Amino acid sequence: MTRRSAHLLLSVLASAVVATACAGSTTPAAPPSPPAADEAVGRFASDNPGSVNTYWMSVPDGLLVIDTGRNVSGGHRAAAAIRQTGKPVVAILITHPHPDHVGGAGALREEFPDVPMYASEATAAWMRADPLGFYPLARQADPDFPAQLTYPDRTFPADQVLDIGGVQLHTAQFGPGESETATAYYEPASRILFSGDLTGEHVTPALLEGRSCGWLTNLERLAQRFPDALTAYPGHGSPDESASQIAEQDAYLRTFRGMVRPATLAESAAGADVAPDELRSIVAELDRQYPDFPLVASLPNLQELNIAAVAGELRAEDPLSTPLVCR
Ligand SMILES: [Zn+2]
Repeated sequence: MTRRSAHLLLSVLASAVVATACAGSTTPAAPPSPPAADEAVGRFASDNPGSVNTYWMSVPDGLLVIDTGRNVSGGHRAAAAIRQTGKPVVAILITHPHPDHVGGAGALREEFPDVPMYASEATAAWMRADPLGFYPLARQADPDFPAQLTYPDRTFPADQVLDIGGVQLHTAQFGPGESETATAYYEPASRILFSGDLTGEHVTPALLEGRSCGWLTNLERLAQRFPDALTAYPGHGSPDESASQIAEQDAYLRTFRGMVRPATLAESAAGADVAPDELRSIVAELDRQYPDFPLVASLPNLQELNIAAVAGELRAEDPLSTPLVCR
């Protein structure tokens, strides 16, 4: 874990979590199958900066809940919004192990004690091992992060179809990118895709782990795997048309890499290092191109830290072995 990653996490987890029940959270009873996407899914989003989503999807047997929020109070607030539907929760599903998506797991387990909690084997293993020490940092930064993490009690191998709640939920497993491991969930009848942090809608992402190329590779696979997806429900930001959301995330990452790359060239102002003037000009260009993109973390200098991380990634890339999608 780099010092930058640690710094980011501290800030991510310290961000305010004032609950807001968002559009769709009080939707009326939906027909069993397949409901229109906007009627089928409710959303609870914590406040910006660092807003993160918990979703619930109507299925024939009740509700599937996706992700748990960043901390204990976030989990309880999401549960209060979920209860307003009057429907039973039949399963909780986790997209990836970042603290802002699993910090509310214990609260949801308490609220819905008999409900199984699912994660991929890779995500569950990462949660138990916590190889980068994310969770102690989360506790340090946010007293509302649970003292003891709650782990999923149902795990599944990569790319399984889960028969759950009366629907067939298709899963796709991804390797290092936005996070070390991630799962997307797709319900083919309604063509609803829960993309986790593989996509974000009009948000400034955290690139602190310096794996923008892995992320681009994952996005290409996501689009190929679920070509019929209609609506994508991202970890941060509002749901939107799936193909355009994937394309926008892809374009953001390419643009970002394209802005940073010249500053890492030997012939640039500070050689391979990013000079202060280069940094300022990249931030100014990001602000110009993405003027209303809230930060996914409450870290005022997130852009500068992203630039430093991606500069390091670009310097280490070997043009001969870099995947085509990243060139
Ligand atoms: Zn996130």
